[in-house]
Amino acid sequence: MQKKLNGTVIVTYRCNARCKMCSRYKCPSKAEEEITLETIKKLPQMYFTNITGGEPFIRTDLKDIVRELYKKSDRIVISTNGFFTDRIIDLCTEFPQVGIRISMEGLEATNNKIRGLEDGYNKGLSTLQKLVDMKHPDVGFGMTVQDDNCQDLVPLYRKSEKMGMEFATASLHNSFYFVESNNVIHDRLRVGKYFEDLVNILLKSKSPKKWFRAYFNHGLINYIFGEERLLQCDMAFDTFFIDPYSDVMPCNGTKDKEVMGNLITQTWDELWNSEKAEKVRNIVRHCDRKCWMIGSAAPAMHKYIWVPTWWIIKHKFLRFYKKQRYSMDELKIVRDYKAGKVTTKQLDSRSTCQFNNEVNDGLSEASKAQLKDKSGEEIVDADIAGQETL
Ligand code: SF4
Repeated sequence: MQKKLNGTVIVTYRCNARCKMCSRYKCPSKAEEEITLETIKKLPQMYFTNITGGEPFIRTDLKDIVRELYKKSDRIVISTNGFFTDRIIDLCTEFPQVGIRISMEGLEATNNKIRGLEDGYNKGLSTLQKLVDMKHPDVGFGMTVQDDNCQDLVPLYRKSEKMGMEFATASLHNSFYFVESNNVIHDRLRVGKYFEDLVNILLKSKSPKKWFRAYFNHGLINYIFGEERLLQCDMAFDTFFIDPYSDVMPCNGTKDKEVMGNLITQTWDELWNSEKAEKVRNIVRHCDRKCWMIGSAAPAMHKYIWVPTWWIIKHKFLRFYKKQRYSMDELKIVRDYKAGKVTTKQLDSRSTCQFNNEVNDGLSEASKAQLKDKSGEEIVDADIAGQETL
């Protein structure tokens, strides 16, 4: 029997949000080119599938996609900005087991400033509340922590707890996927301190799932200080991403789009076992981007489970017997930075931030061509307006 994989399906690059840390909304895919049901049928068996975008709910056939994916995936989670409330509720009514993660970048003022969606916070929250009211079991927030919103990290976590929801975190990354090269944390100690508080709250809880989340957030502190990943990256070995053009890639963190093959022209087995796929695996083995996103960290945490488990045991022991809280100072780089042995400039140079570097947006020629006369925002706004008049 073939091993089940962990897959992420980027169903569209169209997005109606205007996030500060992601310029994808300026570079949408052309709707006619986006991955079809026929191609989705060719995907392998998966133990977990993340559906993402752009904004996935811009696709009016998302329910058909989910229906098809459930034939080959044990668990599906959709990442969304929560704007299309009716579509989300409708989909969750048909698929009560689907996971929904709504991006919230902080409390009201912070969220709306970062995400650029008019009344985005209240819209997202009311979608979440409706899902809670209908007792949808797998609902949560997703927050990209940065200088502008780190002060809201713990309050937002508390809010998610109160509402009985999951809480997923990330930090700033640069890649073709985000169409960004300028993202960087400026005040690492301040941001790290808020992560440290969250780690302590999670470690204190009685939930093993939250203890593993504590480890993940410890990994985020490690990442923002530019250190090597806590766990080896095995993307493209038992994990894959597929983009709106049906190009299969190892992840969404690379500087330029790395392609293992295309699922329109190839079968899954041809693609997965190809020489091109092997070359990409070799790139992954030598990748120096050190990113720490849930898509690449969660499979590694499952695979090398004894590493986070040992870290948890150690911290539970320290907390219980020595009354010692977790401190980000356990990372040598943090101690060195505090002692002035490493400068901010040196840390910046170890990050993936390259100010004003030209970014490869990974768009097809046809998608690029439509940007000649109109902006990405105009194209997507017109798309959505057209859908509403149908
Ligand atoms: S570290 Fe892994 S997930 Fe990050 S860009 Fe490299 S290959 Fe991709």
